[in-house]
Amino acid sequence: MTQVSANPSNEHRSRPDVMAAELCDILRDYLDVAQIDSVFQAYQFGAKAHEGQLRQSGEDYICHPLAVARILAGMRMNTECIVAAILHDVIEDTGITKTEIAERFGDEVAGLIDGVSKLAQIQFESRLQAQAENFRKMVLAMVEDIRVIIIKLADRLHNMRTLGAMRPDKRRRIARETLEIYAPIANRLGMNTMRIELQDLGFSESYPLRYRILSDAVKRVRGNRSEVVSKIQGAIENRLKDEGLDARIEGREKHLYSIYQKMKAKRLSFNDVLDVYAFRIIVDSADSCYRVFGAVHSLYKPVPGKFKDYIALPKTNGYQSLHTVLFGPYGLPIEVQIRADDMDKVAEAGVAAHWIYKMRDGASSSAQASARDWMRGLLEIQKNAGDSQEFLESVKIDLFPDVVYVFTPQGNIMELTRGSTAVDFAFAVHTDIGNSCVAAKIDRRLAPLSSALFNGQTVEIITAPGARPNPAWLNFVVTGKARATIRSYLKNLKSNEAAGLGRRMVDQALKSYQMNINNLPDAAIAALLAEVACNSMDELFVEVGLGNQLAPFIAKRVAEDAASASTAVSTQSIRHAWTRYMPSWLGGAGEQPVLSIKGTEGMVMSYAKCCYPIPGDPIVGFVSAGRGIVIHRESCKNLADVRNRPEKCIEVQWDSESEGEYPVEIRVDVLNRLGVLATLATAISDQGANINHVDIEDRDGRISSLGFTITVRDRQHLAVVMRHMRALEQVTRIKRRS
Ligand code: MN
Repeated sequence: MTQVSANPSNEHRSRPDVMAAELCDILRDYLDVAQIDSVFQAYQFGAKAHEGQLRQSGEDYICHPLAVARILAGMRMNTECIVAAILHDVIEDTGITKTEIAERFGDEVAGLIDGVSKLAQIQFESRLQAQAENFRKMVLAMVEDIRVIIIKLADRLHNMRTLGAMRPDKRRRIARETLEIYAPIANRLGMNTMRIELQDLGFSESYPLRYRILSDAVKRVRGNRSEVVSKIQGAIENRLKDEGLDARIEGREKHLYSIYQKMKAKRLSFNDVLDVYAFRIIVDSADSCYRVFGAVHSLYKPVPGKFKDYIALPKTNGYQSLHTVLFGPYGLPIEVQIRADDMDKVAEAGVAAHWIYKMRDGASSSAQASARDWMRGLLEIQKNAGDSQEFLESVKIDLFPDVVYVFTPQGNIMELTRGSTAVDFAFAVHTDIGNSCVAAKIDRRLAPLSSALFNGQTVEIITAPGARPNPAWLNFVVTGKARATIRSYLKNLKSNEAAGLGRRMVDQALKSYQMNINNLPDAAIAALLAEVACNSMDELFVEVGLGNQLAPFIAKRVAEDAASASTAVSTQSIRHAWTRYMPSWLGGAGEQPVLSIKGTEGMVMSYAKCCYPIPGDPIVGFVSAGRGIVIHRESCKNLADVRNRPEKCIEVQWDSESEGEYPVEIRVDVLNRLGVLATLATAISDQGANINHVDIEDRDGRISSLGFTITVRDRQHLAVVMRHMRALEQVTRIKRRS
């Protein structure tokens, strides 16, 4: 720590050094030397990473993260949080990776910074204003650690304080986003001090003229009133003293944005809003609150209907207080808030109060657990207050949602149950869209209808006229609406329609065994009907049409029965249309099928994520409950333990005409050089492959091991891509992951 305190004179030190020293001074109040030292190291690391970068104002970039850290130090946030604040823009703005940060400052810090960086990537600007509420929820849903949002709020606060240097259009956007997204989040988390400053800054930026007029008026009025204020305050103080009540009384000034909102919402004039004298009385316990309440009511007459007991019935963010309005001298209304000391702390800091006031000797419990503690605290308050569960539901939903938020192509946000698929999304948009969907694009890329959706994705549904729900969708949909609509469609399907549908599906499936539905051996039919417990083939077709039986398995059984009765039948193929193309059994004239697994007509099909099969690979289909057929590579290790359950495996082959793009994983060892990732990315995209995902799996000083998930057309394409990568001098080793 000598670097920090050795030189008492500030003028020889750079501004960042001075700021870092000041930060450490604040931290000395509640952190130990070793903790402060790691904060200082973070400063040095961050200063180096941001070296040469300037803020709009012209000062060194590192001044911004230092200021953010200082805001958080004022809230007494723990070491990891302060370190993360100092480095919060490092992943986003410099070449430093999460892995590097994890190595130097630990996983916790790296996780926090990663979370803040992810939030930075969702842009409010392109989204509809009316979506603000859902957008706020999405922000909260993306946050796994509540400290991420606290850092983000501090970051936003400092950016708002220093907005002056920005371009006007940028300033307006940031101010609007602050008012619509971040201030309400601070409110939701009970962080009132933070909320008030964000709101006033956002207000002054969005409506400079109104802000100036209002603030001048407020100053004038306050000057005129100071005498009355001290008179009332004195009267209250005396009365409380007489009653033997120990209390702290503060004259309370409404902040400008709340005055403005009140004027707007209730169409009041400035005088109506401001002609109110407001006081806050802080005492030691809830019991004292009610006694103070009695005392002030005996001093001044209460205005009927204005009393609110937020101690018995706290607000959703945990706020507790008694509110009342009194007729003061000359008939002036006096607003009074009465609360206990601990209630006051929660009222100011909300969820952050947990770190401020309940720091357990530096031991950092998991932050999510801390947020849960906070929640539990709220629940406890509520239980004592004896009111309904409703109180917490809204908070809980915001903080620990069971939902995902995705965008429509128009930028509307849809809220869906976690685990929802593209089909669920389609039904959520509109029943007709669900009923006629044939394909989906997720983030502008084609994806199977069964794909699970994640926060922030943009989903587009492709429909075809005349398309109808596929019984197999029931295997993967999760929302009640999708399930109910598909079921009702199937129920309404007349049994002769279902039979026709089922018959076509079985017929198609049989073709891969070079069999024909019209001349099946009687013995095979009898054996089959016995196996599936149906009385007739028609009954079986209805079952298939309704999605209760799967056509390929019926065909497989028939083929096996027939084979055991006569000669072996080779497994030949039919062509399979991928879900995005309307299956021919739905009567779709449609396009040619593009990608193909033979023999899976009309079934849900997906590719295993463990081995990423691509056309050209030897493959096996595995029947998985709820997922339809999952295609694995023959060499996949995960297949080993299902091999002895032959009824679960079906033989599948790629169609020779298969098209499309398939993900595949490769691992590349490279020499650590500047720009190596960019070189690899270029090599990959030059060969017409896309990169879906990159991670750095392992690393020593000299060599990094990178895992790429790329999409290719087939084995040959993959070989070309790998050959080009291998040719790069930085690459020491490359192989496909098995
Ligand atoms: Mn920042």
